[in-house]
Amino acid sequence: MFDKKAHASLKGKKLHPESLMMSYGYRPDWSEGAIKCPIFQTSTFVFKSAEEGKAFFELAYGLREKEPREEMGLIYSRLNNPDLEILEDRLTLWDEAEAAAVFESGMAAISTVLLHFLNPGDVVLHSEPLYGGSEYFITKVLPKFGIHPVGFVAGSGRKEIQRIIDQREAGKNLKVIFIETPANPTNALVDMRMCREFADRHSTAERRVLVAVDNTFLGPVWQHPLKHGADLVLYSATKYIGGHSDLIAGVCLGSEELINPVKAFRTFLGNMAGPWTGWLMMRSLETLKLRMTCQMKNARYVADFLSDHPKVERIYYLGHLREGDPQYEIYRRQCVSPGAMITFDIVGGEEQAFRFLNSLKLIKLAVSLGSTESLAEHPATMTHSDIPAEEQAKMGISEKMVRLSIGVENPEDLVLDIGQALDAV
Ligand SMILES: *Cc1c(COP(=O)(O)O)cnc(C)c1O
Repeated sequence: MFDKKAHASLKGKKLHPESLMMSYGYRPDWSEGAIKCPIFQTSTFVFKSAEEGKAFFELAYGLREKEPREEMGLIYSRLNNPDLEILEDRLTLWDEAEAAAVFESGMAAISTVLLHFLNPGDVVLHSEPLYGGSEYFITKVLPKFGIHPVGFVAGSGRKEIQRIIDQREAGKNLKVIFIETPANPTNALVDMRMCREFADRHSTAERRVLVAVDNTFLGPVWQHPLKHGADLVLYSATKYIGGHSDLIAGVCLGSEELINPVKAFRTFLGNMAGPWTGWLMMRSLETLKLRMTCQMKNARYVADFLSDHPKVERIYYLGHLREGDPQYEIYRRQCVSPGAMITFDIVGGEEQAFRFLNSLKLIKLAVSLGSTESLAEHPATMTHSDIPAEEQAKMGISEKMVRLSIGVENPEDLVLDIGQALDAV
């Protein structure tokens, strides 16, 4: 048994997550002294005795409560695997969550959580725009199960959201509030505290309304939704957590009470991450803070350059929010830093945006984000192209918009590339 609590502090002081990412949850004597957790590329695990096998299954199927100090043993890699368990323990540290569940993709995490917590007749209130996959799942797939989606535009105030809830008579059956903040690609913020208030207002003794936050854009380093009233935090770990554009994975975090049943449901959907993905993510977590700090600094440098440029009409960057703007108040309350996602409107339209994108040399033209390399894309015709133009306009997406995900390159080289591509327009 491994005493995680003791491992996470020194002389009574709690250690920071970045100090623990190399060792937390793993003991070298489990693996011939190997300093790194090996890849446990195995489908099944040998029981020491039939009695042990029986005990593990009793716990796995919830047939009885755990004895004091009893731990769930390893059974089969769809239920548990050391690479996943150690990774999940490490992931809880950034968000200060009780429990984590890792999935084979961000969409697997999101769809599993929504399917688990929503029942026919329930309402899911969600911000807009959402990541395309989440938008499709919520507005096209969930209705097949009798679940009703109700959307509001990110950045809307309390009154407007309450008006939508009332108009759609959504309050009584509200079960989950699902938000993405900052929104993609506009960086509009949704006030998590306000969402908690809506959730509490519509909760009853038997029916607690849950707030779920897709924290892919700023987390897990720059935003901690559980501290602002969220019940569940979701990630596409494909982005900053993986961070090298070489894996697809997802995470859900929250209390043990909420996450344990999600993990049980995951066992039946069979969409947990495999040991290799788990191992790669542990490798990635060691440099997470380092990467995100570098990316955040680079992004500020790039955003400052863009804000003075004559070919840039408008910039959507959290670091440029000004006092007096209601979005600034939300930013101050719930974000730790502006992160590394920058969107801007180029002077002109699609033609100018495409000329810019086609002229980039160092920055790659690709969707996805959060990786070590900088990426650029055109939301209106790429990531958000399935949203009708009229809806795009309501969400603040236009054809002159370009989205940048800033990486760890030298910031002067990034500005050199962006500058020459703007000159080519
Ligand atoms: C990429 C992304 C997803 C989906 O994650 P996958 O790992 O691609 O399944 C969900 N939400 C946001 C905000 C994303 O950027």
